[in-house]
Amino acid sequence: MARYAYFVDLSICAGCESCTVACQNKNGLPPEQVFTKVHREEAGTFPAVTSTFVTTQCMHCDNPPCTEVCPTGASYKTADGPVVVDDAKCIGCRYCITACPYDARIVDEDERVVKKCTLCFDRLQAGQQPACVQTCLTGARAVGDLDDPQSPIHALIKKPNTIQIAGTSFFYRLPEGFARNVLPADFKASGATFAWQSIFQPIGQVMLAGVTGALLVSVVSNAINARRQQQEGGEAHGDH
Ligand code: SF4
Ligand code: SF4
Repeated sequence: MARYAYFVDLSICAGCESCTVACQNKNGLPPEQVFTKVHREEAGTFPAVTSTFVTTQCMHCDNPPCTEVCPTGASYKTADGPVVVDDAKCIGCRYCITACPYDARIVDEDERVVKKCTLCFDRLQAGQQPACVQTCLTGARAVGDLDDPQSPIHALIKKPNTIQIAGTSFFYRLPEGFARNVLPADFKASGATFAWQSIFQPIGQVMLAGVTGALLVSVVSNAINARRQQQEGGEAHGDH
């Protein structure tokens, strides 16, 4: 078992979007849909303005709300950390899209399922790096196992100006002159997840219990009626 973490060194990201394209290619996404985004951020005041690129994607949250709201178990967190989607189980209800605080999921209208970055879990299992990491021209991206003392990820996340996004698998190294606020926020479950867990899920369970109870009552009452009719039939037969 592994504990994968993702490191992005924004101080050397060139903003070329090769990662975006490699990811689209790997996942068969059309040009208008992306899992890996590259944003431009600025700091300072004119004329002393500087800019950097910030990449975002699924953050592979420690306690992902997308999996908690998924009614079929299609979205789940693997034992190694990456959060994945089983297409065969996805019913396209989109609850996970509402629950995700990082806007990391998209709808595949053709297949009527929801998709997202899986950290190229299939590639990791085959001993390869994710497509975005492999293609990055400047070596700004890396994935490694925090439970493997030999993994280069340990040295990377100790680099100066490196910040972990709390509650997620992501570490970013900030360029000089940039503050924490250009990075994705620390994990916080959305109100939709809270509503789902505290209101809709309990109501659903009560309704399910009610339906099950009604079915049981109906089965028992049908059995009693059948038994009574049988007895009445037997008595009538005995009277003749
Ligand atoms: Fe799920 Fe969104 Fe977290 Fe990814 S970023 S694990 S899709 S909640
Ligand atoms: Fe930045 Fe690397 Fe992505 Fe290019 S491929 S945008 S350098 S992270």
